[in-house]
Amino acid sequence: MPYEKLIPCSSDGNRYATSVCHHLQDYLQFSANKKSKGFFSASSVLISTGESLGKKITYQDGKNSPVLLNFCPFCGGKLHSIGDE
Ligand SMILES: [Zn+2]
Repeated sequence: MPYEKLIPCSSDGNRYATSVCHHLQDYLQFSANKKSKGFFSASSVLISTGESLGKKITYQDGKNSPVLLNFCPFCGGKLHSIGDE
């Protein structure tokens, strides 16, 4: 079976990530409580229009508040349109 071409993380036209690479995808979890550790993904939607803002990727260490990742720690791709804020 041929390897899929690695698509790096990117954030195009959305506030958060539009695509996530396989490496990060492997680590992503989708539900968290205060003591969870690891990488988490949540789809972000603008409530007023229903427009998708992309995938919001955060990291939690189980002690502090979640940290929003601007760049993927695996491929270095953009996870957040920093200039957008
Ligand atoms: Zn990545």
